[in-house]
Amino acid sequence: MISRKMENLVKNSSAIRAMFEEGRKMAAEFGSENVYDFSLGNPSVEPPTEVAEALKSIPDSYNANYIHGYMPNIGFDEVRGAIAESINGRFGTSFSAGNIIMTVGAAGGMNVILKTILNPGDEVITFSPFFGEYRNYVSNFDGVLVEISPDTSSFQPKLDEFEASITGKTRIVIINSPNNPTGVVYSRETLEKIAAVLEKKQKEFGAPIYILSDEPYRELAYDGVEVPYIPTIYRNTIVGYSFSKSLSLPGDRIGYLVIPSEIDGYGEIFAAAGVATRILGFVNAPSVAQVVVSKCLNASVDIGIYDRNRELLYTKLREYGYECIKPEGAFYLFVKALEADDKAFVAKAKAHHLLIVPGSTFGCPGYVRIAYCVDHAMIERALPAFKALAGEYRQ
Ligand code: PLP
Repeated sequence: MISRKMENLVKNSSAIRAMFEEGRKMAAEFGSENVYDFSLGNPSVEPPTEVAEALKSIPDSYNANYIHGYMPNIGFDEVRGAIAESINGRFGTSFSAGNIIMTVGAAGGMNVILKTILNPGDEVITFSPFFGEYRNYVSNFDGVLVEISPDTSSFQPKLDEFEASITGKTRIVIINSPNNPTGVVYSRETLEKIAAVLEKKQKEFGAPIYILSDEPYRELAYDGVEVPYIPTIYRNTIVGYSFSKSLSLPGDRIGYLVIPSEIDGYGEIFAAAGVATRILGFVNAPSVAQVVVSKCLNASVDIGIYDRNRELLYTKLREYGYECIKPEGAFYLFVKALEADDKAFVAKAKAHHLLIVPGSTFGCPGYVRIAYCVDHAMIERALPAFKALAGEYRQ
């Protein structure tokens, strides 16, 4: 009944979602206090108060037909203008509304760009470990995802392998920093090296290679670490931003693309991305959410709450003998599984009511992802289970 392509996609459907469903079942069986669900990157910190204030102000500030009506596919002009100004203030750029397209989250924005740029068989490079949905997004447009193997000592990109993997078919390189699942932030130096490789390869192949910077975690960075703005480092960069994590609005489905005027083929790409927004069935990003975020551009969730979770979990897991690097951003810990088979390890963790996600989902077997965007008290309750799990392997 369903297409062959969907048959495969359903079969390989997200392990993360499966784990989330499993968690709900286990909570019903054992009581939610006794199940420790670290599977999903669903923000636990409430949206800032500015979000509720912006929502309340909408009926008084806008004509109902305007706010709820159809609009240009790329979004409200004044919202796009406000976003451009906010980016300029932060990063010294000179964008205008003509560089911004409102999107249905980062996922919507990425699909729009992939649809805009890819021909069947075109290659998209990304660095393992990576957000597993990239496989589906790229396959939506019959592209080929090329995975650069992980450097598990630092989880920074392997630059030699990257350079060797670029071919005449490479169109896009997806970069995600702060990274899901490792929490690693790519340094300015690393990004400059990536840019230098791409400049060289663009010349060699005589065709543009775009960076698509997937940035849902931009605002979630700890200890003052710099998250460099890639359009200021590499000219052919398109940014996919999302408010899902920065304002804790994943259900509102709102984000934007930045398509700088300086990129090769700007005019064509911007126009085509507007059409892609429409014909992918988004038509436009949700109107109320557009206005809300435009009034909250200086607001952010309280990342101190995630930071506290990070410190507790990192310190305790290391104490119990787990190996992992300290994340500098996002809200995930990427931990070496205590046996080579990450899926078997996840199953053993489940017996302790710990729900975590195998690294193979992110193109990096032998590791697991622990999402700490959860209640601090749940982490405290879960610590004995993590300790017992480690103890099981020591015996
Ligand atoms: N990219 C990465 C790396 C993510 O982790 C996520 C969601 O968790 C997304 C994209 C999708 O974000 P959105 O909810 O804005 O579509």
